[in-house]
Amino acid sequence: MSAYGIAVDLGTSGFRGQIIDLTRNKVLKTVITARHPLPGANVMDHLNFAIDAGPEIAHQIIISAINQIIELLSPPPGELERFAVCGNPIQLSLFENIEIRDLAYAGEKYKEKLGILSPDRGAKEYRADTFPLLSLPNKCRIFIPPAVKHEIGADALAMLVFSGILENKKPSLAIDYGTNAEMALKVGDKVITGSAAAGPALEGQHIAHGMLASPGAISDLRPENGGERCFILNKELEPVEGDLIELKNGHLLASGSLKARGITGTGVIAAVSRGLSTGLIKLPHIVADGEALHLCGGISFNQKDLSEAGKAIGALRAGFITLAAEAGLGVEDIEVAFMAGASGTYVDALKAMHLGMVPPNAGDIYQVGNTSLMLARDIIQNTERLTYLDNIAREISASHCMFAFSKVFEKAYLLELSYWTEGMPWAMFQKFAAMYHLPPLPSLKTKVNITRKVIRDISDIGEGGLITIEQVGEIRSWAIPGCATCGLCVEECPELALKLDEAQGIIVMRMDRCLGTACHRCEHVCPENVFHLSQFWQKSSKIEN
Ligand code: SF4
Ligand code: SF4
Repeated sequence: MSAYGIAVDLGTSGFRGQIIDLTRNKVLKTVITARHPLPGANVMDHLNFAIDAGPEIAHQIIISAINQIIELLSPPPGELERFAVCGNPIQLSLFENIEIRDLAYAGEKYKEKLGILSPDRGAKEYRADTFPLLSLPNKCRIFIPPAVKHEIGADALAMLVFSGILENKKPSLAIDYGTNAEMALKVGDKVITGSAAAGPALEGQHIAHGMLASPGAISDLRPENGGERCFILNKELEPVEGDLIELKNGHLLASGSLKARGITGTGVIAAVSRGLSTGLIKLPHIVADGEALHLCGGISFNQKDLSEAGKAIGALRAGFITLAAEAGLGVEDIEVAFMAGASGTYVDALKAMHLGMVPPNAGDIYQVGNTSLMLARDIIQNTERLTYLDNIAREISASHCMFAFSKVFEKAYLLELSYWTEGMPWAMFQKFAAMYHLPPLPSLKTKVNITRKVIRDISDIGEGGLITIEQVGEIRSWAIPGCATCGLCVEECPELALKLDEAQGIIVMRMDRCLGTACHRCEHVCPENVFHLSQFWQKSSKIEN
């Protein structure tokens, strides 16, 4: 008798799912989505969307994306017994369709006034029929790992449990390098967490030629014979040699074995690092031909991409400066770094350190993979782990620093923005940091031990390989009353999320492409003042998959 389980990680830039043969304890296949199905570029946008459009709608879109994953994982009919899902508190709450407003507002009095109570975010086990929209057989049980505290989610627990930071005796920092960068500083028995809305650039999104870590993505650049060798992820998500090019003009010096389709987050980090090292980036400008770095296969990295990457890198460094200040440490006291997530795994750790994404005095760096998916898989393979995880979550003495309300973060991030986007010299950065009483940043350690614990962020993709869903979630269409079918909203959309069906007078939106509440450009450009984003989300007459 066979039995199967599905593990899903609800990441902020996309979902990842795996089917596991429980009798053989073997991963069979992996499916990832190229984007997050909800409108928005980060977790706060997703939260705003859910509050704006209604949590029911957000829940429905998330479930329909998961159903796409389940369909492609194709469990044998009737033999799917377990389903586990991990992610940050916002994604998991939207999956469960429970209260989310407690994650949107910080003031206890304000929440009390609105009658908002934090729901139970401990470990849970559900029957499949609790989620009637989810394509699971009735006998399947659904498992959700616990949050450490309601705002320190299961994904942070996964990073703590699987990175190895909890066993480390030295002051250590773990970061999950994603759109929403979860981070934890451990000093003695105390853990302080935070999460920096780094934005999607370090996952290869909102970058002109960006893509997630999937086959065809440029993942690294290395100097070779006066040029730069591009490294490209193959079907097994392993980096292989692509073309050797001249970064300043894209001239081909030697052909590689694989062609590039785009650039992923680690390629972005490599481009910035190599641009700075070769003098082709003089912050805040790219000084190469066409104000862009030229990678292989016509893929370029432009001025806007540099600015997006700089903001993300700056948010990370401002984050660990803030955690160090919270712990009463200097940044130089952080001796060990754990790098999780796809970017944290594939990135050249020294390049990341060069840019400021790793504490400069860390002598030991461990690259540990996608810990959130590991946790979901762990539960699928042994459901008793849920009790163990619940105990660990209770035992961890953790506190959370809300960066959104931290003066230290505010000052540090302001300096980062000045450095990355306005060209503030490094000496000036340090001077202002001292003036603001921020923990000083030491110079880079010269001897660093790097341990890559896994070869891929998803360590085992299974014999069935990896499938990427390029279009995820829902497409909605709406015959907007009063629409003059001028098409201006379609032209204005920076993400090509909209289409106009002139014959039928309807606007069609790909929800996974929309930037959500942070954008509204379609709304502002409408001459008839009839395009209302939130109404579009709620009143769309037709939903297609
Ligand atoms: S213009 Fe409108 S549809 Fe396009 S990304 Fe912005 S909000 Fe979304
Ligand atoms: S901009 Fe306004 S009037 Fe023009 S097509 Fe879009 S919704 Fe219709």
